[in-house]
Amino acid sequence: MIIVMQEKATEKDVADVINRVKGFGYTPKVLEGTLRNVIAALGDARDKARLQALESLHHVESVMPILKPYKLCSREVKNENTIVDVKGVKIGGDSIAVMAGPCSVESEEQLMNTAVAVKAAGATILRGGAFKPRTSPYSFQGMEEDGLKLLRNVSNETGMPIVTEVMNPREVDLVHEYTDIMQIGARNVQNFSLLKEVGKHEKPILLKRGLSTTIEEWLMSAEYILSEGNNKVILCERGIRTFEKATRNTLDISAVPVVKGLTHLPIIIDPSHGVGYWQFVGAMSKASVAAGADGLMIEVHWKPEDAFSDGPQSLKPEKFSKLMDELASVARAIGRSI
Ligand code: PEP
Ligand code: MN
Repeated sequence: MIIVMQEKATEKDVADVINRVKGFGYTPKVLEGTLRNVIAALGDARDKARLQALESLHHVESVMPILKPYKLCSREVKNENTIVDVKGVKIGGDSIAVMAGPCSVESEEQLMNTAVAVKAAGATILRGGAFKPRTSPYSFQGMEEDGLKLLRNVSNETGMPIVTEVMNPREVDLVHEYTDIMQIGARNVQNFSLLKEVGKHEKPILLKRGLSTTIEEWLMSAEYILSEGNNKVILCERGIRTFEKATRNTLDISAVPVVKGLTHLPIIIDPSHGVGYWQFVGAMSKASVAAGADGLMIEVHWKPEDAFSDGPQSLKPEKFSKLMDELASVARAIGRSI
């Protein structure tokens, strides 16, 4: 159930409702809005009549059931868009955030050169994997902590916040120490112990959609993170597996308007993994912005032919820079900026 507080309700009124909700055996979660606060009462819905009675309190506007299986990330609970702030870069507001960088961190030279180039082109967040989820155990697995150190150094030098993947609940503390956003990869979207662990940490989480997760399953995964207390979740559509072989995955751009209707969380698109070939990344990036995505995650490598992973889908810095100019026009056309 959700308890919508009156606009003029004070902190004391909110505390009063929280105590009552706890008294009924529910777990209260407060979602702060600019106009009014909402309290989600999570727990067994069988006893909901007692919660419904809270409507008679003068500082409560209404009490409503939450119909969706995901609660805290649902628009039913919070209608206002969530804006995730990463060291001043806002994701979910008017401006479209572009995260760019190599698939894997490979060396200081590679990371620094790529970072300087993507920053000059207008990217505001640097991406790079230090723990890599590879299909083959014989493929490059990432530089691990040495890669995290390089990311931190390059971030400090360039002033760009960073996003990097965490694959294992045991490594969450380590990754959290170095990064600004923790990425949950497509293959871990339903690794519930990992989701719970990152939910206990405070830094923003980029949650990729799985290769075959439905939008509802994906939002349930986001719910795991929110239910542990971390509300700073950015969803990332990165292509789903279909019968089509011409592209690496099938990029589901329709997820953008669908997800926006269901949740207040921001959604970005990763066209690089979505299509798997650099030749198609530009078209999909422009389509994503036009569809209303709050950001993009694009793989860029200073020498894609030498990349340790995902070279074929990585843009060269010059191509990325040209694309950023085109994206600015698309953003302008829909009343947004990059
Ligand atoms: C990545 O971003 O480098 C990555 C491995 O992505 P995904 O989990 O979407 O495959
Ligand atoms: Mn990659």
